[in-house]
Amino acid sequence: RLVLGIETSCDETGAAVLDETGTILGESLHSQKEVHLKAGGIIPPVAQRLHEENINRVVQEALDRSGITPRELSAVATTVKPGLALSLGVGLRFSLSFVRRHEKPFIPIHHMEAHALTVRMLRHVDFPFLVLLVSGGHSLLALARGIDDFLLLGQTLDEAPGDTLDKVARRLSLINHPKCRGLGGGQAIEHLAKEGDRLRFQFKSPMGQHYDCNFSFAGIRNQVTMAINKKEKQEGIEPGQLLSCVQDIAAAAQHTIASHITKRTHRAILFCKARDLLPQNNPTLVVSGGVASNDYIRETLRIVTDATGLQLLCPPAKFCTDNGVMIAWNGVERLKQGKGVVSHTQDVTYEPKAPLGRDISTEVRDAT
Ligand code: ATP
Ligand code: FE
Ligand code: MG
Repeated sequence: RLVLGIETSCDETGAAVLDETGTILGESLHSQKEVHLKAGGIIPPVAQRLHEENINRVVQEALDRSGITPRELSAVATTVKPGLALSLGVGLRFSLSFVRRHEKPFIPIHHMEAHALTVRMLRHVDFPFLVLLVSGGHSLLALARGIDDFLLLGQTLDEAPGDTLDKVARRLSLINHPKCRGLGGGQAIEHLAKEGDRLRFQFKSPMGQHYDCNFSFAGIRNQVTMAINKKEKQEGIEPGQLLSCVQDIAAAAQHTIASHITKRTHRAILFCKARDLLPQNNPTLVVSGGVASNDYIRETLRIVTDATGLQLLCPPAKFCTDNGVMIAWNGVERLKQGKGVVSHTQDVTYEPKAPLGRDISTEVRDAT
C-alpha cells in the first residue's frame, strides 16, 4: 500500500509518498515562513497564492523522488481541516482533480489527528497515550485512544504559545537582532534565553485556580509587553530598540510559558491516572507541534513525566512542524483500518474549524 499525502492547511505546502510501514519514499516541502515573517503575520490571500504557485511542483517532486507513478498509488490523503480556509481550499481542489484524473481513492485528513499520530510512524506506541500539541496555531492536550478516537482534555482559551512567542519576538524586533538572523520567533527567543537570567523579570503563570487542563497565553504576553514598555520608557528609546535586557526578557517569557504548559500537562496526567485512562505498562506522553522543538520546554516537561512515571516522546523537529509526511502516515493508518476513504468526492468540503475528538475539557475537574 502506497499513500500520497498532501498538506496545505497553513503556511507549508507539503507532499510525501509513504509505504505502509511508514518508510518515506519521497517528500517535498515548501515553507512560506520567510514571506510571512517579513509581513509580520500570515495574510491568507498571500498564503493561498503561494500554495497555488507551489503545489504542482511540490507534489511532482515527492512523486519523482519516490520513483512511484500516480498509477501505483493506493490512495491520496489530504488535510481538509482545521486550518485557513483559503489554504485548505488549494490542497483540496488540487487533490480532488488529481484523484479524479488518476481514479484513486481519497482520504480526507484532520491536521491535528495527523500531528498526534506521527509518532507511531517512527516507533511502536500503543493506544491509549496522552498527547500535547503546542504550535503557532494550537495548544491542546488530548488522550489518543485510536486513530480516529480522541478525548480532548484541554485547549487554549485565547492564543497558542508559538503565536505568543512570535508576537513577543516581533515586539522586540528580534528579526533585526544580530544574534537572531534567519531565526523564527520561537527559535530567536530560545536562542537569546540561553544567555539570559530568567529571574530578572517575574511573570505570573496564569490559571492557577482553574481546575482543568485548558491553557491561556494572552496574559503572559500582556505582562511581557508591559515589562518591555516600561524598560523602553526608562531608557528613553523607541519601541523595538531595546537591547540591554532582551535576553533576560526572553528567558523569563520562555520560562513562564514552559511552566504554564507543564502545569497544565501535569494536571492532565493526574486526571488520566485518577480515571485509569492510561495503560499501566509504559504510559506515554507524546509532545508535538513547532513549540515542542524547544529544549527548555522539553526539559521542563521531563521533570513532570519523570515524577509521574511517564515516558516522554518528542518526534524530531522536522516531524513536529507541518509537512506532507504526517498526512500520508495518517492516510496509511486509515487505509490499514479501512477507515476514511470517501465514496463520493463531490461531497468533500474543507472545514476551517474542527475540534479534535470529543471535548471533555469541562469534565476535567479536581484532578489534583
Ligand atoms: P499549526 O500547525 O497549529 O497550524 P503553525 O504552522 O504555526 O500552526 P508549526 O509549524 O507546528 O505551527 O510551528 C510553528 C511555531 O512554532 C511558531 O510559532 C514558532 O515560533 C514555534 N517554534 C518553532 N521553533 C521553536 C522553538 N525552538 N521554541 C519555541 N517555539 C518554536
Ligand atoms: Fe500544524
Ligand atoms: Mg505551519
